[in-house]
Amino acid sequence: MSQWSMDSWRNKPILQQPNYQDKALVKDVEQKLASYPPLVFAEETRQLYKQLGDVSQGKGFLLQGGDCAESFDDFNAPKIRDTFKVILQMAIVLTFAGRCPVTKVARMAGQYAKPRSTDTEVINGVELPSYRGDIINGMAFTAQAREPDPNRLLDAYFRSASTLNLLRAFAQGGLADLHQVNRWNMAFLENNPLKERYQDIADRIQDTLSFMDVIGINKESNAALHETSLYTSHEALLLNYEQALTRIDTLTGKPYNCSAHMLWIGERTRQLDHAHVEFFSGINNPIGVKIGPTMQEDELIKLIDALNPNNIPGRLTLITRMGAGMLGKNLPRLLRRVKQEGRHVVWSSDPMHGNTIKASSGYKTRNFDAILSEIKQFFDAHKAEGTHAGGIHLEMTGQHVTECTGGAYQISDADLAQAYKTQCDPRLNADQVLEMAFLVADHLKK
Ligand code: PEP
Ligand code: MN
Repeated sequence: MSQWSMDSWRNKPILQQPNYQDKALVKDVEQKLASYPPLVFAEETRQLYKQLGDVSQGKGFLLQGGDCAESFDDFNAPKIRDTFKVILQMAIVLTFAGRCPVTKVARMAGQYAKPRSTDTEVINGVELPSYRGDIINGMAFTAQAREPDPNRLLDAYFRSASTLNLLRAFAQGGLADLHQVNRWNMAFLENNPLKERYQDIADRIQDTLSFMDVIGINKESNAALHETSLYTSHEALLLNYEQALTRIDTLTGKPYNCSAHMLWIGERTRQLDHAHVEFFSGINNPIGVKIGPTMQEDELIKLIDALNPNNIPGRLTLITRMGAGMLGKNLPRLLRRVKQEGRHVVWSSDPMHGNTIKASSGYKTRNFDAILSEIKQFFDAHKAEGTHAGGIHLEMTGQHVTECTGGAYQISDADLAQAYKTQCDPRLNADQVLEMAFLVADHLKK
């Protein structure tokens, strides 16, 4: 096998990349990015690695979520804050009602590149390149917008830096203070049928904090009450961007991808002999890989060994996205084999991507019950096989959107048009996420 280097992936086949016209400009942009500061630090990724190691051993739960694709236009503080709050709220429910430590990883601050099922899109007889995420081209259906523009790589870097800056401020500057748990009650909770259940948890947390304060445990003495850690992640699709942000850590002398704490490989680009697996095999971050229903046992073991040859707990998260109708047949056989072979992984459920359908109104949507069914089956399969259901990976937003049908408010096909705002795949809204959190918490407690 040839030696890994930061650019050894360039000698392998690669899928889902843009076809830039101006190759010299691409080189120029890559050089600029490589000279810019890292977005995250190796030590932070090591903390996440350690936490995921615990999760893989059954001690904790991974909560990963955010937009399918972040947007350059819809880039503002309220949007970042609201998604952050929904993640916090969900984590509180899982920690308190599920009695389980939760590691929070946002699909934010870099989730800009999208794999697509077709290279081009035809509307009214006009054929143009598909939209591939704001880091590559624009969503508008014009030849100009759809032309891949290398300068967008720089725009994505600066937006990611700015998003991360705000997330760090929120996590450490008081917004995540447990004493504020009632203030995370956003307006959306007002009419939510689960409001009382959430309020009950918030009240019990307040009581516990008051008691702890009396006996001398307070936020001055214990940072965990006042701040939180939120890690970032995205699909590392554009390997030239990822390479430019990969740096040698001065402490360990090892390469870390400093574009996010955790990176994952998508279902469409995880071929064993292709560029993505090659690149990921050499970076030292905790990594994920999406696993669809067609994955075979032998292939999975080979993939695990390519990505985590030393079988280190926390290194690899397998994010299964089977579809509610396919999971029963396909997840148990994989769980069984990985357990038999003694490989340490975090098993996480992405209940979104196997359940995408076209609504009668024409919108791409997902039904809440199908999403829920996949999660329930995920928990049941782990219980039956004696493995740990380690996490959940959601496409969600703190904004009031109507993109997934069902849930407590029974969003119907006809309602989708009201607030369908996604750049790519349909997301759960804040109400649907909270509902999901209580259901997952019930399973965690079992
Ligand atoms: C995604 O997470 O948005 C995605 C494209 O997922 P998958 O690779 O599982 O299809
Ligand atoms: Mn998606």
